[in-house]
Amino acid sequence: MEWQKIVIHHAASPTEVRRFGKQVPVNAAMIREWHTTKGWSDIGYHFVILPDGRCEAGRPLYRPGAHCNVGQRNFIGIGICLVGNFSETKVPDAQLAGLVKKVVQLLEAFKLGVGDVELHRDVPGAATECPGKYFPEDIFKQELEARFS
Ligand SMILES: [Zn+2]
Repeated sequence: MEWQKIVIHHAASPTEVRRFGKQVPVNAAMIREWHTTKGWSDIGYHFVILPDGRCEAGRPLYRPGAHCNVGQRNFIGIGICLVGNFSETKVPDAQLAGLVKKVVQLLEAFKLGVGDVELHRDVPGAATECPGKYFPEDIFKQELEARFS
């Protein structure tokens, strides 16, 4: 794959779900389950950022994603998903920090620039609010810029 973009998403889900009578966290394994239940071959995202900032691996980077069906982004864009629903709540500080850390790593690994990082809703042709109206776009971009200046 020739990765040219990084596309940021939210799961638009709760951070925990009730299963067999107990609360279990939403993580890469659970999102993988949701996506494979839809008939997909694997989780659609390449990385999942948990509320505490930890990053979990999703689909391997040698495979195209299934996270954004416009602008060829599944083929040129690495998909990163934040667990949570940021149309309803704010992004926890630790989670935003974990996202910034992962994005910085990927920009360096693939020799990309801050301008190559996109929110799903900003991909031309995308009709979505993803990653949610409370995603702190300005702070996120500023933190990235600060790492590369
Ligand atoms: Zn999205």
